[in-house]
Amino acid sequence: EKQKQAVADLIREFTLLPTKLKAIKDHFLQEMRKGLEKEGQTIAMVPSHVVGRLYGSEIGVYLTLDLGGTFLRVVSVELLGQGRMRTVQKKYRIHDERKVSEAKLLFEYMASCVDSFMDEHAIIVPSDAEIELGFTFSYPVLQTAINSGTLIAWTKGFSCPGMVHKDPAAFLQDAFRRRNMPIRVAALLNDTVGTLLAHAYRHPRTVIGLGLGTGTNGAYIERVDRIPKWKGPLSNKETEMVINMEFGAFDSELLVLPVTMYDHKVDQKSPNKGQQIFEKMIAGMYLGEITRNILVDLIDRRLLFTSCMNIEMNRVWALDTAYMSSIEADSTPNLDDTQRVLERVLCSSSKAAVDESSKECRATIVTTTLVDRKIVKVVVGLVGQRAARLSAMAVAGILEHTKGVAWCTETGADIGVDGSLFMLYPSFGCDILDALEEIFEQESGMKGVVVVRTDEAFEMMDMCEQLQRSRGLEVRMRPCVDGSGVGAALCALLATRIT
Ligand code: ADP
Repeated sequence: EKQKQAVADLIREFTLLPTKLKAIKDHFLQEMRKGLEKEGQTIAMVPSHVVGRLYGSEIGVYLTLDLGGTFLRVVSVELLGQGRMRTVQKKYRIHDERKVSEAKLLFEYMASCVDSFMDEHAIIVPSDAEIELGFTFSYPVLQTAINSGTLIAWTKGFSCPGMVHKDPAAFLQDAFRRRNMPIRVAALLNDTVGTLLAHAYRHPRTVIGLGLGTGTNGAYIERVDRIPKWKGPLSNKETEMVINMEFGAFDSELLVLPVTMYDHKVDQKSPNKGQQIFEKMIAGMYLGEITRNILVDLIDRRLLFTSCMNIEMNRVWALDTAYMSSIEADSTPNLDDTQRVLERVLCSSSKAAVDESSKECRATIVTTTLVDRKIVKVVVGLVGQRAARLSAMAVAGILEHTKGVAWCTETGADIGVDGSLFMLYPSFGCDILDALEEIFEQESGMKGVVVVRTDEAFEMMDMCEQLQRSRGLEVRMRPCVDGSGVGAALCALLATRIT
């Protein structure tokens, strides 16, 4: 009985009803407008300095470097035209100690990775020439030009001292110079800007790039005459510019977000307390930790794993969001996969895992009951669905803001999405589309907009390409995997168009 009550309470706390979602979206729209008006707003709405649209016919060879939350990725990109490209890439892991080391050391490491990549792939630059590089740097930056900006704050677990208010592109250029490398940092961009550009190269009516990975963020196409704070040199009111929204910081003052005590705990344990609250309710870095906090609370209240001895789940970040995907995907009658995940999480969490053999550790916890596992699955579903619905809220806000301005009211809009959460979390994509439809139904301004979907949503890009055309204004959301490669190359290309 107590268990039922506890689950019912969680369902109430984590379910975002349509009216609430609409209220959050309305506030989101208001914050977007405020961010476009002046600096220092919660949604920063950073003008990316990227202007003009892509047609898929662009060509050239570029290098790109991407500092993500988990990996550093170097890519060489050959744009072939007709929306086609050839890429070669290598990933380098960023160890935790590098994420907090002196900034200069981090950039030395990045330059050394590019150096060895160029050696390995025999990338030779003529002696009097330089190769242009697009640098994807997915942390809040105040963009000052297409290839410079200043870091506002670190996010996603980074906190290298000596970087805030400095220009990451200049740090990188200096690191290349010290090694005598013939590379020019031509563009500094956020990964969602890259996602938007990479998607637009294949689907020219793209208006939004969305990131759902370690963190979350979005970029979209805006008309400069709707950016009151833009004081740049563009006189043509019809000119369009990509805005890097930095929407992870939305409502950090907690006016509308339904923050629970579990969210609060996650925030308290994070390196950027009080910031990026919206991101912390959505992104891959945090969903597992929210779930873990709920489970710990249930364990402490003796409502979960009561038949097991010495159960604890107290190691912070022990439950990776990838585990949630396995639990969501578990359709076995006894929830065997969930059992396996729990064994792994509980083993790595408890002291026993360190002190004793993993076999003994397993013996202590093998007794989770089916009821336990069902509760865990419900909890995971609640956290995942809330995240997807909040992501949809942001997409709906952007679409409403740009309808008839940046996207064609004859045909509709394309959205490119990147990030493991979107690609790998089983129900995430569908939950977003369901919520989008729900929000559109309530908005008179969005009547006639059709959310296009397939049964096997997002499984494979090729399959998504085979979507049947529907009637009305189509909104199509599709995976776009190479924002930080192809997108960054396209950004470097656009940079040379304007300079
Ligand atoms: P990044 O955002 O750093 O460029 P990703 O898009 O791969 O990289 O996102 C990494 C995040 O995705 C991590 O926080 C991780 O927990 C989460 N993640 C990894 N695999 C899965 C999965 N199978 N299901 C859900 N989330 C996952």
